[in-house]
Order: sequence, then structure tokens, then C-alpha cells
Amino acid sequence: MNSASADALVLGSGPGGLAIASALSKEGLKVEVLSKDDHNDPWPYTYGIWGKEVEELGLEDLLEHRWQNTVSFFGRGSSDPESADNSPTHHNRDYGLFDKKRLQKHWIKQCDEAFVRWHRGIAEEIDIGNSISKVITKEGKIFKARLIIDASGYNPVFLKHIEKTKIAVQTCYGVVGKFNKPPVDEGQFVLMDYRSDHLTEEELKEPPTFLYAMDMGGGSFFLEETSLGLEPPLTIDILQLRLKRRLDHRGIKIIDLQHEELGIFLPMNLPMPDLKQPFLGFGGSASMVHPASGYMVGGLLRRAPIVAKRIAEVMSNTNATPAEISAEGWAAIWPKELRRKQAIYQFGIEKLMRFKEPQLRSFFHGFFNLTNHQWYGFLTNTLSLRELIKAMIDMFISAPWNVKWGLMGMQGKEMKLLLRFLKPKI
Ligand SMILES: Cc1cc2nc3c(=O)[nH]c(=O)nc-3n(C[C@H](O)[C@H](O)[C@H](O)COP(=O)(O)OP(=O)(O)OC[C@H]3O[C@@H](n4cnc5c(N)ncnc54)[C@H](O)[C@@H]3O)c2cc1C
Repeated sequence: MNSASADALVLGSGPGGLAIASALSKEGLKVEVLSKDDHNDPWPYTYGIWGKEVEELGLEDLLEHRWQNTVSFFGRGSSDPESADNSPTHHNRDYGLFDKKRLQKHWIKQCDEAFVRWHRGIAEEIDIGNSISKVITKEGKIFKARLIIDASGYNPVFLKHIEKTKIAVQTCYGVVGKFNKPPVDEGQFVLMDYRSDHLTEEELKEPPTFLYAMDMGGGSFFLEETSLGLEPPLTIDILQLRLKRRLDHRGIKIIDLQHEELGIFLPMNLPMPDLKQPFLGFGGSASMVHPASGYMVGGLLRRAPIVAKRIAEVMSNTNATPAEISAEGWAAIWPKELRRKQAIYQFGIEKLMRFKEPQLRSFFHGFFNLTNHQWYGFLTNTLSLRELIKAMIDMFISAPWNVKWGLMGMQGKEMKLLLRFLKPKI
């Protein structure tokens, strides 16, 4: 039986695990990472981010692609390309895709420079003591540390959430390939194409989907038919059919299929973790994914150093117990203002899940008519609570009546979420 001891033991080597492990090690803490996979294994997904987010972090070099021409379509769509129904909403902001290998290496390099120790194994049991906690793996190895951080993703191995709730899941079907004609303009990135003139009246009654698309260069394009978070989620078969119908309608054919993404599932409105637990979570496990956009990497890069600093301060008291360290850690991961904002975002996604196709198009049209600072700050979770509330009020005031009615009627758990905004749970 092996044993090891450390200040912090991080479980998982995805973006969440690596972000917090590198930040803690930068604070001079002795960190170990225990992961099911090898920490160098390639990640399954490619992560998107707004250009300004990486610029503010000085990490532009980690991008593989960057687009200046960023647009969405919220009109109904028409066979006449000049019709107003086909006119794009310009976002006037750069969008990028990380080079996922470079992002991973960025964090691993920081960890290696600070002598983080890497272990492979499947964590199975946890035992929180008064001064040292233990994790036991399936293979029978024991790891000891003053603080355990469960960063094992959306279905965390140890972390519990405050309530069991049905989770809205965003589903996507994507292809990378070459086409008989460009499916989006050359050099263009399309965040959301909600045009729906290819759908029948019956299909328009079903949950709406949109196209997320981009020119990847060299004649290749990435197209992904996507649903917003839904419960139950839309099936991949429907998304595949919708993409085909969308392309057929515009006379677009795939001539060289380079990659197909079958079955992407992204949980959106995760319940809050139980912040009284005597160990921490970070990343998907700690519900840090943005409930409206599904993005997290920008948030991890911004928040990991703040959380690590607070943890290091508490740990400098050698008598601090795992429970005391965790209490401070949770307060840094989920300060009250963030919890209140989370309730607003979750309220918003509950609303959007019920919106019908024209309502949704009107909603997004209004949303991207907010100031650039407002919609960007909403999507990146960088607005203050005050600013977020102001953005919501501005949005409501300028919204057409079909959206106003949708926003006003309270259904399902919406009232509960509004109350949580006033009194956030711990
Ligand atoms: C399809 C999809 C697309 C996304 N796109 C974006 C995007 O464009 N931009 C963005 O910012 N975010 C995006 N996200 C959200 C988020 O950034 C990712 O989900 C991210 O991978 C979550 O990181 P994580 O480290 O929390 O979890 P994971 O990446 O799931 O990593 C979990 C780690 O825990 C390990 N583990 C699991 N169980 C155990 C165990 N018992 N013992 C030890 N180790 C264990 C695993 O081996 C793995 O290393 C996307 C998510 C999905 C699903």
C-alpha cells in the first residue's frame, strides 16, 4: 500500500483540476493530483472563449483560431438572401478557440515548475479527519492531505449538491468538413443561427435549435446543430436531421466529412454544491459552469488564483482543520454575490426552456441589442450583481410583448429560484 501526504490533493486532471492545482502550487503549497486518466491525455472537447477574456489574462497565445467577423441570425430566414430576415446581428467582438493541447500544457508546465506530483488511480473513498484527510483508491492506495479538492467533473465522485433536480442538458451534433459552397461566410464565426425557414409548421412547434458554425480555414468548416439546455434533452437524431434539413434548404452539401461529433451532452443548470462539506470542489463538480452559456474555462482561469490565494492564507495557520480550510475555500469559490447571480442565471434558463421558436428569436434579438458590455458581461459572468440586474431590467423594458409575457408568467421552479436570489442557499 502506497501513501503520500500533501497540503492539497486534487482529484481529476481536466480543466478544473489543472486550473486549481497550478494556482495552489503557485501559492507555494505542496500539491498532488490524483486522476483516473493520465494528466497528459488529450481532452475530448475543444473550448471556445471570447477574445477579450484571454487578452485580459495575457493568454492570447493559447488560441488556435480567432475570428473578428462574429455574427448571429435571429430573423426567420428567407430564400431571398437580401431579405431582412437573413440579416446578421454583428457582435463586434472577437471569439476564439483554444488550442486544447496548448491550454493543457500551460497548466501542466506551471504545475511541473512548482513540483506538483502526479498520480493515476480511481478515487473511491474519502475520510475527513481533524487535521489530515484521506482518499483511498480502487487500487487500494491511500493519499493524505490537509485539503481534498474533488475536481472530478459533472458527476463528482464525492461532492454532494444541495438538491436533487432534473438537469437541463444542451445537446449538439457537429461535423467538420468541406462543402460544395461555404456554409458560412469565409472568415466568419456564427454564434447562433436561429433561422428556421427550413422547418415545417409541425417542426416549429418542437423545441428550437440553432446552428453554431465557423470557418476553420483551408476550406474546412465546423457546423454544429445545437439545442439550448432542455429537460428532457433533444436527441442527437433530431439534431442530425435538423442540420441536414438546414443545409439541404440552402443547397449545401458536404463533400468531405473530416470529423463527426456524435452525442455531445452539456449539463447547464447544475444545482449548487453543498458548501458545508469539509472538502472542496472545483470546475464542473462545483457547478462552476455558466448556466446560460455552458462555458467555464474563462471563469476557471479568472477564479482559480483568487481561490488559491485564500486557501493558502488559511493554510498558513497550521492548526486550521480541513473543515475550516474548506469553509473559507467555499466562500472564495461561491461568494454570496456569485450565488445570487447564479440564481438569476438559473431563473433565466428556466424561462428560455419554455420559449417557443419566435419568442426565442425575439428574446435573443433583444439580448444582443443590450450594450456590448452588458451582453458580453452576462455571457462571461463578469458583470457585478448591480450591472446584471440593470441589464435584465433594460432587456425587459425593450422586449416585445411576446417576450415580456414569457418573462412574467411564473412556472415550475422559477419562483423558488427568484427567492434564492434574495436569500442564496449555502
Ligand atoms: C461538450 C462540451 C463542450 C464544452 N465547451 C466549452 C467551451 O467551448 N468553453 C468552455 O469554457 N467550456 C466548455 N465546456 C464546459 C467545461 O469547460 C468542460 O466541461 C470541462 O471539461 C469541465 O472540466 P472539469 O475539469 O470540471 O471536468 P472534466 O473535464 O470532466 O474532468 C474530470 C477529471 O476527473 C477525473 N476523474 C473522474 N472520476 C475520477 C475518480 N473517481 N478518481 C480520480 N479522477 C477522476 C477524470 O479522469 C478527469 O481528469 C464544455 C463542456 C462540454 C461537455
